[in-house]
Amino acid sequence: MHTSVEGATTVPVDPLATVPDAVVHLDRGWHITYVNSTVVTVVGRPAERIVGRPALDVFPHLQGTVLQRELHAVAVHRRPAVVEYHTPDGRWFEVRASAEDHGLVVVFRDVTAARRRSDRQEARLQHMAAVLDALPSATVLVDADGRIVLVNRRWKLASEVVQRSGLRPGRIGDDYLTVMTQGMDTDDRRVVAEGVRGLLAGTVAGAPVFTHDYAHQTRAEPGWFRLQASRVEGVGQVVITHTDITAQVLVQETLAWRASHDDLTGLPNRARLLHVIGAALADRHNRPALLFLDLDGFKTVNDSLGHEVGDELLRQVGNRLVEEVRPGDTVGRLGADQFLVLARDCDTAEAAALAVQLQQSFSRPFVAAGLPVPLSASIGVAAATPGVHQAHQLLSDADAAAYAAKASGRDRVHLFSPGLREAARWRLDVANRLRDGAVDQFVVHYQPLVRVDTGAIEGVEALLRWQHPERGLLAPDSFLGVAEETGQLIPITRWLLGETTRQAAAWATEGLPLRMSVNISARHFSAETLVHDVRVALRDSGLPPEDLVLELTETSVAEDPTRAEDQLAVLRSSGVRVAIDDFGTGWSSLAQLLALPIATLKIDRSLLTAAARLAADGTGPVLAAIVSLARTLGIRSVAEGVETAEHLEMVRAAGCDLAQGYLLARPMPAEEVPRWASRVREAGGDSCALALRTRAG
Ligand code: C2E
Ligand code: CA
Ligand code: CA
Repeated sequence: MHTSVEGATTVPVDPLATVPDAVVHLDRGWHITYVNSTVVTVVGRPAERIVGRPALDVFPHLQGTVLQRELHAVAVHRRPAVVEYHTPDGRWFEVRASAEDHGLVVVFRDVTAARRRSDRQEARLQHMAAVLDALPSATVLVDADGRIVLVNRRWKLASEVVQRSGLRPGRIGDDYLTVMTQGMDTDDRRVVAEGVRGLLAGTVAGAPVFTHDYAHQTRAEPGWFRLQASRVEGVGQVVITHTDITAQVLVQETLAWRASHDDLTGLPNRARLLHVIGAALADRHNRPALLFLDLDGFKTVNDSLGHEVGDELLRQVGNRLVEEVRPGDTVGRLGADQFLVLARDCDTAEAAALAVQLQQSFSRPFVAAGLPVPLSASIGVAAATPGVHQAHQLLSDADAAAYAAKASGRDRVHLFSPGLREAARWRLDVANRLRDGAVDQFVVHYQPLVRVDTGAIEGVEALLRWQHPERGLLAPDSFLGVAEETGQLIPITRWLLGETTRQAAAWATEGLPLRMSVNISARHFSAETLVHDVRVALRDSGLPPEDLVLELTETSVAEDPTRAEDQLAVLRSSGVRVAIDDFGTGWSSLAQLLALPIATLKIDRSLLTAAARLAADGTGPVLAAIVSLARTLGIRSVAEGVETAEHLEMVRAAGCDLAQGYLLARPMPAEEVPRWASRVREAGGDSCALALRTRAG
């Protein structure tokens, strides 16, 4: 490209004339030997006035500059160089120099315009950065091609946290979506990618703003962020802020959690359970089963050990159930002492096995306040059958099964059967009717108690009946349980005490003095009102206290013997007598029972039939032992359920004082009692003889 120059003024053909860069050739002595015509734009003088002159004459301001130093270096080391050069009149040149045998070729390119452009851009970015830095949230500016062009201070701070969590923080030049969607779940990732791409492409209709809340795990705890992106009109860039909304989300989640969980145990509550059961039922392929656990005698635990201990025990029960169930099963608390286990994909047999396993896990005692507290549970099991679609349906089936488990004694497992649904409906009906004043439909039947030796009439036991408008006369077993659960039993017994004492007093004035026995439930016995209720009944009726016998079941006394003793002593001091009912059905020690201030022991029918089966010679040695032990303590014994002549013979041989049973008389309405008594009187006063004669005849 070097053209040899003959004369200072002749440049016949210049192939470099149209090049936009100024090209200059210097010889070794730094004289200008060639310039192209573009040089006029650099020095402001035409080529003719430059060629042949020393370079420093033409470019005096070159003296002492970096460019001068660099050109020397290029000449000495014969290595090309590129230098930026700023002229005193404020222009920028990119200068390229290379050495050849005769000197240097130097090319000047005017980059002033480009330089100004990038300076302006720089200034704009700096301004933008200052604005973004003022924002309280981590913010980035994303270019139209999706790359990050700017990040603010908050973003950089957040980046450190991101880095510590093992993810790659987004830096300038990175593809925004690639770095941002790390650590997001698939759904969030999709939504964010679509939203941001839409804004970048400018295809979003309406307000060009996109907002999305997402979860992001950058710490040990999960965090939540709100992404807000908006398009910067005109430049095609998008500003995206990320606000930490973890605190708000946590508040919302806490509220939601508390609405769906039980405060005491932290387990799902009733509402949540119904939801989970509903979801499980919706899955056609995995039929779930429900286990309904009802702790036995938990009220006694609460009453005797206090509510704090009770609460602690409930927590432990919850934990134990959680430990025992299979992965994927749900344990929840319905309230009070009732828990639920939702067993996924479980048929009746598997559910029953799980129930037995849970039951057995209770054999390890629970420890509260330093005391081992034995607990047991009655468990109802209902597996979802194809007809069951609704959560509350399955729950009420399991409930009905648990009810049956409880009714058959503590610590039992009972499987649901459709008959229980009917029973549950019946209980509900009873509860409703009792609340609506069915007490008016109650009647009392009386069953005589007679002396075994003479057959003389001793008294009657009052037995409650319900004259149901549709179902006829109902026995107490079919409604007393519900009355007890719904808290109706105490008012019923109060009414009964009034009715029976009034009746006994009336018979006495008619010349038929009968000792009246009234059954008292355990619930009423432990309530403080019993003594008062008895006093009121005696006062209102005028019946002497010794003509009233209160029958308490063995179990209601044995549950808390010390407390029972105090209660009994108070009753005794009011003059009434107390009988222990159904003896032989519980597990209490006879010695302990007989130590109580009681007047009578009523031996349960089951003991009589068992003795009858065992005793080949017709005498019941067990029966005899009980009777004589009671007698030495001044306690009279009554044989219940005397149905046959053999029974009567057996109780007589055993030395029982009194007998009661179908052989002698069935329970009868009040108006029949005087007629029955007069028949006995007419027959010589011996009801036993009359009964045997009637039977034989
Ligand atoms: P219980 O106190 O043991 O009453 C005796 C039950 O045995 C009565 O049943 C009676 O009809 C029945 N019975 C009498 N003799 C015989 C017999 O020879 N053979 C057989 N198989 N049964 C006989 P009922 O009237 O159905 O009462 C059942 C239970 O309901 C009572 O058992 C008692 O625990 C309870 N109950 C009855 N009335 C009341 C009441 O007013 N208050 C309370 N709290 N409970 C009551
Ligand atoms: Ca009784
Ligand atoms: Ca009884």
